[in-house]
Amino acid sequence: MAETPQKNGPCIICVAITGSVPRKEHNPAVPVTIAEQIESTQEAFEAGATIAHCHVRDEEQNPTSDPERFARLKEGLEKHCPGMVIQLSTGGRSGTGHERGGMLPLKPDMASLSVGSNNFPTRVYENRPDLVDWLASEMMQYDVKPEIEAFDASHIFQEAVKMQAEGKLKGPLHVQFVMGVKNAMPVDKHVFDFYVETVKRIAPDATWCGAGIAQGQIMLNEWSIAAGGHTRTGLEDNLRLGKGVLAPSNAALVKKAAELCEKYERPVATWQQAREILTLRQAA
Ligand SMILES: [Zn+2]
Repeated sequence: MAETPQKNGPCIICVAITGSVPRKEHNPAVPVTIAEQIESTQEAFEAGATIAHCHVRDEEQNPTSDPERFARLKEGLEKHCPGMVIQLSTGGRSGTGHERGGMLPLKPDMASLSVGSNNFPTRVYENRPDLVDWLASEMMQYDVKPEIEAFDASHIFQEAVKMQAEGKLKGPLHVQFVMGVKNAMPVDKHVFDFYVETVKRIAPDATWCGAGIAQGQIMLNEWSIAAGGHTRTGLEDNLRLGKGVLAPSNAALVKKAAELCEKYERPVATWQQAREILTLRQAA
């Protein structure tokens, strides 16, 4: 059964280990090779993260949606982080068109799904309705739970809830509010409160998570944990522990989020609890 997140219930910490943008030059702790990714995720898992949000890179550190790399990463994570929820990215920085869903036949527990378009720092983040429908249908076919990436309020209203009503997405929804991407929604508490209130109103059985970019990350961790939601951290979104201090690892950022859970008397979800809350299959 899906549970409405309780203010004092377990909080799921998602770690976004690599992303498409940060490189070793920005922070040497960004895991880029599959071996580094597995090691970094294992440390984060031990620190309390129970969802691993994953992108893969090629030999030059550039993002790719190569299914073979995703397969090796998934296999390594299943071996070294047993039970952890594996979420693969179908984001638009790693490929175009149907390439973006090429890893879905691997049947990860979850995949990210961007349901609408908006501006990014230097480009349009284009998610055409026909491509979104195709990615959603692939997720349905391979029993992959989508995480709806809400870069804008319309992504919750028009796209996610309407798609669920039309049978294109299986509920209960898991929605992630992404705040602080330049040219998209800022890190703003009124907008955050509106997002939370909106999800509760129009998708009462949905679970939700807050993700802030750069210095907004720890703020979004705190807002989400205080409001009874789940939260995301990791080097994909933020390279620093504080002003001028590079994060030494993904695990260090996870520890920050876990400390905030303690402050608000929220237990950090175990992987079993995370799977139950997200209505995922229990691991073998
Ligand atoms: Zn991502």
